[in-house]
Amino acid sequence: MYSQNEAELVAIGQSIGEKLQAGDVLVLTGDLGAGKTTLTKGIAQGLGIQQMIKSPTYTIVREYEGRLPLYHLDVYRIGDDPDSIDLDDFLYGGGVTVIEWGELLDATFLDDHLNLFLEHLGDGRKISGKAQGPRSQALLEEIFHD
Ligand code: ADP
Ligand code: MG
Repeated sequence: MYSQNEAELVAIGQSIGEKLQAGDVLVLTGDLGAGKTTLTKGIAQGLGIQQMIKSPTYTIVREYEGRLPLYHLDVYRIGDDPDSIDLDDFLYGGGVTVIEWGELLDATFLDDHLNLFLEHLGDGRKISGKAQGPRSQALLEEIFHD
């Protein structure tokens, strides 16, 4: 998928947010400024969250209440030490988890999750996905083939 501008990326996020179910885990990978937080803003809108999404850079996790709870994590600050936070508290429960990835962390401790990759392409952003499990495969097909 391609988004020409920030508003289009928010709209893509919103349509993703509308498709999410409890226990879904999304991992967003991309350079600083690639649009991970922007996409998360759209996902929050799709979950019916009214609150402003702020980058959780300093807090690591922010929780929002919508149609489903949203746990928004930015693990950039954790570096390569996943033990510094108990991610299990925010995974595979009654909510949706969106993790802005620090690139350094390896995702092997995650169960079924959908990877979304954001890249600069011209003035816009390219969005691609890779499923890691049956639920994320179904979600991937819903998101990219609708
Ligand atoms: P990240 O969380 O990946 O570091 P952000 O979402 O915080 O990235 O920031 C993306 C920045 O890029 C914003 O300042 C936004 O205005 C800008 N931008 C420019 N073009 C686009 C686009 N096509 N899609 C999304 N963001 C864009
Ligand atoms: Mg961010």
